[in-house]
Amino acid sequence: MNKYQDGLSAEEIFSTGKGLTYKDFLVLPGYIDFLPEDVSLETRISRNITIKKPLISSPMDTVTESKMAIALALLGGMGIIHYNMPIEKQAAEVEKVKRYENGFITDAIVLSPHNTIREIIEIKEKFGFSGIPITKDGTKNGVLVGIITNRDFDFEKNKDKQIFEIMTTDLITAPEGVSLSDANEILKRSKKGKLPIVDKEGRLVSLVSRSDLVKNKEYPLASKDKNKRLLVGAAVSTHSSDRERIDALVEKGVDLLIIDSAQGYSSFQIELIKALKKRHPHLEIMAGNVVTKTQAEGLIQVGADALRIGMGPGSICITQDTMACGRAQATAVYQTALFAKKFDIPVIADGGITNMGDVAKALSIGAHAVMVGSLLAGTYETPGEYFYENGVRLKQYRGMASIEAMQSGSGKRYFAEGEKIRVAQGVSGSVMDKGSVFEFVPYLFQGVKHAFQDIGYRDISSLHKALYDNRLRFEPRSFAAQLQGGVHSLHSYKKPIIGAD
Ligand code: GDP
Ligand code: GDP
Ligand code: 5GP
Repeated sequence: MNKYQDGLSAEEIFSTGKGLTYKDFLVLPGYIDFLPEDVSLETRISRNITIKKPLISSPMDTVTESKMAIALALLGGMGIIHYNMPIEKQAAEVEKVKRYENGFITDAIVLSPHNTIREIIEIKEKFGFSGIPITKDGTKNGVLVGIITNRDFDFEKNKDKQIFEIMTTDLITAPEGVSLSDANEILKRSKKGKLPIVDKEGRLVSLVSRSDLVKNKEYPLASKDKNKRLLVGAAVSTHSSDRERIDALVEKGVDLLIIDSAQGYSSFQIELIKALKKRHPHLEIMAGNVVTKTQAEGLIQVGADALRIGMGPGSICITQDTMACGRAQATAVYQTALFAKKFDIPVIADGGITNMGDVAKALSIGAHAVMVGSLLAGTYETPGEYFYENGVRLKQYRGMASIEAMQSGSGKRYFAEGEKIRVAQGVSGSVMDKGSVFEFVPYLFQGVKHAFQDIGYRDISSLHKALYDNRLRFEPRSFAAQLQGGVHSLHSYKKPIIGAD
């Protein structure tokens, strides 16, 4: 293939000395001998985390809280919970994601026979479930004496009634050591909602929930840890005051910690990574943001497990204009990916992704996944309420270094906390309603699969191999070519929800 050496190699187009963005080049088509459904987009997003879809949501207060993180993880991607909120709230958001789906629930919430219906209702309000094992002494590993669910107290008016009066006591249980598959079979046969697992003395060991079987069937691509819990990331700043935040996130089981800094090559970040590698050696750390090899090297040397690439390409971002600093995003992604490859560290292309073509381009020049803000902004799963302007349904989307976001606490990312005068590096705006992530993301990835088919590769690792063997061919686009590649010569047209600027 490529015996005619069509176009240029990535090495050639990115060595002209001029920074390129995604719009500045195209990938030349390859040979198709497979269908879009044969394409696998599985990818490694940090040293030890692999997910089925290369999509990560930005830690921004108008993009990712638990609702978005749950939705993306179910769909095979991953969400990063922002930190523009108190420590307890961010830790609780992480916990909501980690509790959403399970295999064996080893830390199930339990009550004692002498707790009241009111206390079950409080648990339901906080966590969303009400199937509670009842142990004799109310401890997590106490002797199991009953179980209570919604149906036991739905119609009970006296909320002070004690649980032992209404709980179910003829229980179907399974013995400690049972495999998850066997437990699931017992659960299916029992037609019950929960299966408590008990040891020889009848003490509670864990719990299996029927609704998790349904979730697993409905979302087979979900990003999960070894206990079948959804994967979630959380962002923190390099500020020393955030050490306490990190401990709280780790305690709730966060899978990936993102050190959120616009210019990540700093003594603050390097010291933080070093300290974290000692304090939490198993925690995966995505460091950044970086755009040069020198920056990348600094963070990889101290143990970064993944790098986040981008300085200034974001849709809400004014860093390049205000700070005179940054790099065109495609060049930044290619150069850092090429460097990080030597250390087998994945890079995440963060910012400036406007449609599925940009996702395919970012992957084609070495990214392992994309991180997006504006692409998901305006979906139902983002924080914030919809509002109308001139009859159009909108949601707010703002940069974390916009004056508005910094006023509510996010200045740390830009070393602005505590400064009397804060310079905005982002803006606040609005985006149109995009519907639910559950429709939007599958549509996006169907598009990416078609792009892979046209480029001629079935998965990200063979695409990267072709990139570095110079078999993948590219061509820069003139300004006229860019105009021609977009919609033109029409009086009016209807834009698809994504795919046309
Ligand atoms: P319930 O019947 O009211 O308990 O609710 P569901 O069965 O619909 O939801 C239970 C969901 O919450 C499952 O996905 C569980 O994995 C999850 N979950 C997480 N932690 C716990 C826990 O401590 N107890 C229970 N019952 N469910 C939990
Ligand atoms: P799978 O490919 O996700 O099914 O992964 P495994 O092969 O590890 O699954 C082992 C068993 O666990 C099978 O019976 C699965 O159906 C089941 N399983 C997978 N995910 C979940 C889950 O979230 N909850 C429960 N209860 N079972 C699960
Ligand atoms: P988008 O997907 O909207 O193009 O870009 C999102 C990315 O922009 C985020 O992941 C983050 O890296 C970056 N970002 C978020 N807020 C700001 C900001 O206020 N200023 C700058 N410079 N970048 C921001």
